[in-house]
Amino acid sequence: MTLGELIASWPVLRQIREGDLRGLGRAAQSPRSRTLTPRIDAADRVVQSVCPYCAVGCGQLVYVKDGDVTHIEGDPASPISRGRLCPKGQASKSYVQSPLRESTVKYRRPYATAWEELDLETAMDMIADRIVDTRAATWETETEDGNPANRTMAIANLGGATLDNEENYLIKKLMTGLGVVQVENQARI
Ligand code: SF4
Repeated sequence: MTLGELIASWPVLRQIREGDLRGLGRAAQSPRSRTLTPRIDAADRVVQSVCPYCAVGCGQLVYVKDGDVTHIEGDPASPISRGRLCPKGQASKSYVQSPLRESTVKYRRPYATAWEELDLETAMDMIADRIVDTRAATWETETEDGNPANRTMAIANLGGATLDNEENYLIKKLMTGLGVVQVENQARI
């Protein structure tokens, strides 16, 4: 490098020459970082969504390429979060794509020491059988003081934050229809 090139590469001179007086733009870039492009550039569409992790319900922009999620950013249009996401929301792409994600039903039989995999239909039938049997065996038509009850106190529903409003609505409807009165969830916006 010649003396002239060395002086020209001096950061203060680059900042003045490139109109970047605070050194936050081009003057702070290296030859390598100049060639980098944002990873959202590869997306062929952007979908507005809501982070499923907690009850805050931050707005998300989900970048998609060929049907796969490539990146998730905060949505500046959201009045809830105004473009921000916490680390869980930032990492929510893994909620869909992580290789560690469980995608089959795991069941451990009574007294078993290991999990076995069940197909979804078998698992759903087992759950339905248990609900029907428990409901029939524990049905209360009256309370202890003789008022109408028509309920079971032997089944409860505990939901999680990843359920959305519509899913919670359907769960509450199902539980009420079954006579289940112990229904809890993490509220969503
Ligand atoms: S980004 Fe964080 S704070 Fe916002 S909804 Fe998701 S988990 Fe909650």
